[in-house]
Amino acid sequence: MRTARSGANLPGEDKGKMEDCIFCKIISGSIPTKMVYEDEQAVVFDDIHPQAPIHLLVVPRKHIPRLMDAAPGDEALLGHLLEVANRVARERGVAEEGYRVVINVNRGAGQVVFHLHLHVMGGRKFA
Ligand code: AMP
Ligand code: ZN
Repeated sequence: MRTARSGANLPGEDKGKMEDCIFCKIISGSIPTKMVYEDEQAVVFDDIHPQAPIHLLVVPRKHIPRLMDAAPGDEALLGHLLEVANRVARERGVAEEGYRVVINVNRGAGQVVFHLHLHVMGGRKFA
């Protein structure tokens, strides 16, 4: 039986192989990008098409195509990404007024980059 991590043509993975993944290229430095925050497990940079005055992307260094591809063993990493989201929201001054953290999973939900990322948005009112 095929497992979630071993299939060659799972939805999402064929759209986001590491070698042509734009976020892997940003993380490796082959696409120069100003980092807002970096640590051993994650990087944060500004979204190129911001949907709010503050719109950051929190991205794990590990290439996980979609949230649903996270495996047992990724729990600490997922928790760390949320902690980094809190940190950069505070640093950008939107924490107290309120910020939104969003993960889109699959195209139907708006995912276009198949490397897991958290959107951190703030600085305006949200409906
Ligand atoms: P999603 O729709 O959840 O997959 O989000 C992908 C996000 O990545 C979008 O909000 C894009 O604007 C953003 N994005 C795509 N390419 C870049 C890039 N080179 N630098 C920064 N943000 C990017
Ligand atoms: Zn990637």
